[in-house]
This record gives sequence, C-alpha cells and structure tokens, in this order.
Amino acid sequence: MESKTLRMSTLFLRTLREDPADADVASAKLLQRAGYIRKAAPGIWTWLPLGLKVLNKIEAVIREEMDGIGAQEVHFPALLPREPYEATHRWEEYGENLFRLKDRHQADYLLAPTHEEMFTLLVKDMYSSYKDLPVTLYQIQTKYRDEFRPRAGLIRGREFVMKDAYSFTIDEEGMRKAYMDERSAYERIFQRLDLKYVPVFAMSGPMGGSASEEFLAPMAIGEDTFALAPSGKAWNVEALTTPEVPAVDCSATPAASKQPTPDAATVEAMVRRADADHPRTDGRSWAASDILKNVVIAVCHPEDEEHGEPWRELIVVGIPGDREVDMKRLEAQFAPAELEEATEDDLKAHPELVRGYIGPMALGPQARGGRKADGASDTGEALRYFLDAHVARGSAWFTGADEQGVDWYDLVYGRDFEADGTVEAVEVRHGDMSPDGSGPLSFERGVEIGQVFQLGLKYSKALDLKVLDSNGKAVPVWMGCYGIGVSRVLACIAETHHDEAGLAWPSIVAPAQVHVVATGKDEQAFDGAERLVKELEERGIEVIYDDRRKVSPGVKFKDAELIGVPQIAVVGRDYVNDGTIEIRGRDGSDKVTVPADQAAATLADRL
Ligand code: ATP
Ligand code: MG
Repeated sequence: MESKTLRMSTLFLRTLREDPADADVASAKLLQRAGYIRKAAPGIWTWLPLGLKVLNKIEAVIREEMDGIGAQEVHFPALLPREPYEATHRWEEYGENLFRLKDRHQADYLLAPTHEEMFTLLVKDMYSSYKDLPVTLYQIQTKYRDEFRPRAGLIRGREFVMKDAYSFTIDEEGMRKAYMDERSAYERIFQRLDLKYVPVFAMSGPMGGSASEEFLAPMAIGEDTFALAPSGKAWNVEALTTPEVPAVDCSATPAASKQPTPDAATVEAMVRRADADHPRTDGRSWAASDILKNVVIAVCHPEDEEHGEPWRELIVVGIPGDREVDMKRLEAQFAPAELEEATEDDLKAHPELVRGYIGPMALGPQARGGRKADGASDTGEALRYFLDAHVARGSAWFTGADEQGVDWYDLVYGRDFEADGTVEAVEVRHGDMSPDGSGPLSFERGVEIGQVFQLGLKYSKALDLKVLDSNGKAVPVWMGCYGIGVSRVLACIAETHHDEAGLAWPSIVAPAQVHVVATGKDEQAFDGAERLVKELEERGIEVIYDDRRKVSPGVKFKDAELIGVPQIAVVGRDYVNDGTIEIRGRDGSDKVTVPADQAAATLADRL
C-alpha cells in the first residue's frame, strides 16, 4: 500500500509563531499554531488537513473497537424535529444548552445534543420481537450544545464530534453484558490512543437509570474532580459513599443531661461554652466534631400518586459540627426531588425548630412517640430526621435541646434518639476513608472523555419501545448508552503529548509517521530527500516532506517540532558531504546518523 506524501510546499498550512490571544490551554494553542484547526466562532472550529487526518485516525480506532464488539454503525441527521424530545421532556429539560430553531413553516427543530430519542424510535420502527435482540448501534456524529462557557479549544466546544452508542436488550442481564462489552471496548480504545484514563463511578444524574461510569483523562486543566482510593478505584463526588462507621460502646457514657448554654447558637460559641461550663473528663478540650449540628432543609418533591401536585417537605439532617452540608451530594439521594435551604418562614411554621438550638429530640422517631430521653410528649407529625453517615451508633453528642439557650450533653445515638435514615450529607475531604475501605481518598482533576450508562427502561417507556417476549407478551426494552467525545479526545491527546516546542503525537494518531526535512541550497540534498520519500512511500509509511526552497533550516526544524510527527529525518549538509542522513525522535531521543541507502529501513524499524 503506497501512501501519499504531504509536501510542505503545497500543504494547506500556515504555522504560527505566537500563541493565539484567546487560547487558554496548551492543546488549543498548539493545535492552532501547528495548523490543525482554526477558530470559526466561540466553541466552533474548522478542521484543516492535518487536524482532519488525526481526527480520522481516532475515529478509525473507535470504529474498529465498536465493530469488534458487534456494534453496527448508522448515521442520524443532526437536525431533528421537536416531537421525540417533547415525549422525553428533554425539549424543556435540556435547558439553554439546546440549540432550538424553526423551519420556514414555523415548525420547531433542534440541533441534537445527543440522540437517545432517535435511536429508540429507530429500533421501535424496525424491531418487534425478542428474537431481534440484542442489538447495539452507534454513530460518529457532530453534536451541538450551546455551552454557557465554551473553553479549552476542542475540549468544551459548542459543535463537537461524539461517538454515541446505544444497546437494546430484552432484560436487565442483557443490558449489563452490553454495558461491560462497551466498557471493555473503551479501555482498549483509550489504551490504543495512549491516553491515560480513570474509570470513575458516577451517579446517574438527570438521564435517570442505574450504573454509570465516566472515563476521565486525569489532568490539571480538567473541570471534573474525582476522588481516588489507594486501590486505584475512583468516584465522582456525588457517587462517594462513606463506609459504615463501627458502633461505639456507650456503656460508660453518662446519662444525657440538659443544661443551660446561653449565647451558644453557633458551633464556635458552643465549643467555648462547653469548655467553660463542662470541661471534658478525657483531658482534651471540646471540638467542633463533638457537636451534632442540625440543619433544616426543604425537599421539593415532584408530584406523585399520593400528592396530586409537587409538594414541599421540611427535613432536618444531623451532621458533625466540623463539617458542612454538600447540597449536591445530599440532593442525589433524594432524586428526583430537589433540595433548597429552608427559609425564615419555614422555621416560623415549626415552633419546635429553635434557631441555634435545634436537636434530635423534637424530630424523627422520638418525637413521633418512639424512644425519648426526657419523656417529651408525642407531637404526632414530627419532621423526618436524618443522620449523616459519619455519625456512629453509640456516639455521644453535644447538641440542641429545642429550647432557647439549652443544649444536651451526652445525647447518644441509638440510646437516646434514633433517625429516620442515614444519608450522605456532608462534603468529602482529602483523607476521608474511601468507599472500598482501601485507605484515605485523594482528589484529582480530569476531563471527561467518555461515559457508559445503564439507562434501564427510561427511554423505552417514554417512547413506548416494546417487543414481544418469548411468551408473546409486550415488554419494554432495556437500554444502555455510551458516549465518547471524539474531538475532545483529540485535544486531550495533544494536552498530554507535547512539550515547549510543540505537539508530539503517539504514532497511532499522528498525521504522518516521518517528517523528512531537506535543508540547504544544494539541489543534491533535495534529490536525496526525494529518494528517501519514495522509499518510505513504497513501504506504506506516511510522510510529511518539507520540500520548501528558500526556507531556512531553523524554520523547518521549528515547524517539524511544532507539527509533532514521531520521527524526523534530516537530509542536508551531511548528505551532500558524506552521504548520510540524520534520524531522530520528535522528543530528541535516539539520534542516529545512517548511510542514505539504510535510512528508510532504519526508520521503518523505529516505527
Ligand atoms: P460534560 O460534563 O463535560 O459537559 P457531559 O457529561 O454533559 O460532559 P455526555 O452527554 O456524557 O457529556 O456526552 C458524551 C461525551 O461527549 C462526554 O463524555 C464528552 O467526552 C463529550 N462532550 C460533552 N460535551 C462536550 C463539549 N461541549 N465539547 C466536546 N466534547 C463534549
Ligand atoms: Mg457525561
């Protein structure tokens, strides 16, 4: 297979010595300077010949691995009608990120941000029996999202290339298998592209469904934070769970006592008050972590069968006093409900919530007539009370006693009070125990390059995709969806494969394998370079040949390093003087000088 050499004298390329003014990350700077892409509008990019070559190579790897697991390629339009997105409520729910437009008859259209609806409807259109399943379809497509802040070049664009795949199976087990197949294809894809990745357990988020993992490329410019355990497992912050804290033996803990603690409505004031009035017997002073802080939160539930319309519920969450509530993590556990901070009016409507002195005894099971430390009367409709997962059964707390200026000492969870449930309520910290118990968590940043997602029945139910099962009964189809940001992957490879001088592509995606540079004024060098190029072509090796006359060697070397092809061969003075060619890696490594007739073979060996 002969390949066509790109000649610098005619290649549609203009390299830049300076960084474009608004380029914010290395990949955006270098891809523009080296002539791979040009900016058309914010977050919208034009692909130049070199850029398109790299993009096509990445796509080829993705296609091979998708085809390898039996997924079949299709291609949808990017311009789609409103109706299917109406049926799944995404026409509204997608918010301002959705590009909406009208045709000349005033009908609504959109530029697809993802294609779940269309794939679901296509399978519904064509398939009707369990015998047709499983099937996995994919496409490599331009997607549109009106991102609030396009940034980092191709990493967050408003028009970008995505591979999206969707699996359709008769049951949940089938969905899991399809998910695992995609997942393993992703690992092979990123390994082959020489892109470091971390699979991160993710909450399912607004798409609904169950298991999901995000593949993040770890790098400091990433917008996503993930928590990493010593075991190598990783989670995004919403998906982190606290391992069960062992119960504490409270047999020696004194009985709970209610004491006046005026002017102690904040955690700091409580610590001061306790140190002054109630020194600890264990020799240390009081700490914020000895206080059970009770936070009132409003849960906004969507309508359900019992309540005909959306409804609002106040709850109270008990957390260690040295931590803060993380609303996003907490909210994830009340989905589909949304959380808000309680208002002044909320507190007014509940006299048992005494600001600064809110405690568990007026809440939850104990207030509904369950166990009570002080024989308080049953208020009937007590608010639900939840405890953060860091609160150990048997632990003793300094906490509010539901009266102005009064707190409890030694109020023991499990002895004196109970909760309606345990929740992940607080922010996670560097050093917290990892969910798998393998050791303390650390936090890193990354860019999401792909995601695998078990959708379950969400889309098949919304769009009525059913097939007949083996008993002739119509059942909804189980689905999964799987995305890779193809153009973002290209940028992430550039982001992780470059140096001061320019790009340094892994050979699998490089626009060519060898950059032949002819230098000097002597035509003899150009003849030698032509000969080398021809030999490389015959071996099927892709070449960029700098055949420009009247361009200085310095400029040519700078361009070669900027463009980032893995091997550079210099045909110049040495060739004219003693018939040798210098070969070096893009990174400056393994420099050798070989006789011209051995150059092609040497290069072939090095690739
Ligand atoms: P993000 O959280 O970064 O906005 P997402 O989770 O919304 O991404 P998905 O809907 O999961 O994105 O899309 C699948 C893949 O498409 C992502 O994993 C990512 O690699 C890529 N992608 C998403 N948004 C963009 C964008 N604006 N520009 C380039 N690639 C993107
Ligand atoms: Mg995602």
